[in-house]
Amino acid sequence: MIVNMSASATEEEINHVVERIKECGYLPHLIRGAERTVIGAVGKNRGRRSELEALRVAPGVEDIIPISQPFTLVSRELQPQRTVVRVKDIAIGGPEVVVIAGPCSVESREQLLETARGVKAAGAKMLRGGAFKPRTSPYEFQGLGVEGLKILKDASKETGLPIVTEVMGVEDLDDVAEYADVMQVGARNMQNYPLLRRLGSVPRPVLLKRGPGATVKEWLLAAEYLLSGGNPNVVLCERGIKTFDPDLRNALDLAGVALAKELCHLPIVVDPSHATGRRSLVPAAARAAIAIGADGLIVEVHPCPERALSDGPQSLDLPAFAAMMTSLDRAIALAAAAS
Ligand code: PEP
Ligand code: MN
Repeated sequence: MIVNMSASATEEEINHVVERIKECGYLPHLIRGAERTVIGAVGKNRGRRSELEALRVAPGVEDIIPISQPFTLVSRELQPQRTVVRVKDIAIGGPEVVVIAGPCSVESREQLLETARGVKAAGAKMLRGGAFKPRTSPYEFQGLGVEGLKILKDASKETGLPIVTEVMGVEDLDDVAEYADVMQVGARNMQNYPLLRRLGSVPRPVLLKRGPGATVKEWLLAAEYLLSGGNPNVVLCERGIKTFDPDLRNALDLAGVALAKELCHLPIVVDPSHATGRRSLVPAAARAAIAIGADGLIVEVHPCPERALSDGPQSLDLPAFAAMMTSLDRAIALAAAAS
């Protein structure tokens, strides 16, 4: 439920509505716009809806609008203007397309530093790299753990690139939060509710990947966990959904990106590496993502993909990444003209 206060509502009237929302068994969520205040009443257990609806006649209230989606805080019905997530001096969700790049896994100091220097020179604004790796097989490389986080930090200090790295479980959360600028929730963990709840109270932006079998609404409800837990700094990431086609690792759901942007005010980045699984397709998928309105990209890059310990076949080498970056300009101009 959304309570639209009138432009002339006083602080006292706003506070009264906030108190009444609580008394009705809901959580109030204030958005103070330039002209008026909007208050979301977020369902907590089973609130008393008819009492809430009666607030329509409370002083200072202009209207009460029932929300048509199962989510509230991420919804554009509550907040039509787009959220911009700030990471140091970088803004995700603003006019600039932000490219995050780096290896699938941190493998060694040399590998990461070479990648970090190369992607920075080509125009990447943030560095990715997994230290805790969710692998389909328990026999595959599982990541360097805290040692990998330390290497990421050193690369960040040298290049100035903020770090995006995955947190796999609540048990690693404190370690990852100590080193990461952005906490990545991997596709396999999109519905790990204990993890999402904990991340709600961590003072770090979260990159929330879409589960390979998740609908757009399930993805947005996962983001709702983070916002309702108190963390407004969430970036969504489309990384492909399950496909029947054995020649593609996943299917890049571009319409899902457009739908998520229509329903939700959070910024969205696209991962063309996991979405395709093939390095030859990554630049085209990246351009398509930008053309449809993605706010950024997260791309896997390795100095020598044939030696990569994970996801080599979908990793660009440094010259291919630089070429892809140059090829994005037209898509960026097209998207800017369309918005
Ligand atoms: C990754 O970013 O390397 C990764 C494991 O991604 P996803 O969770 O999308 O599979
Ligand atoms: Mn990967």
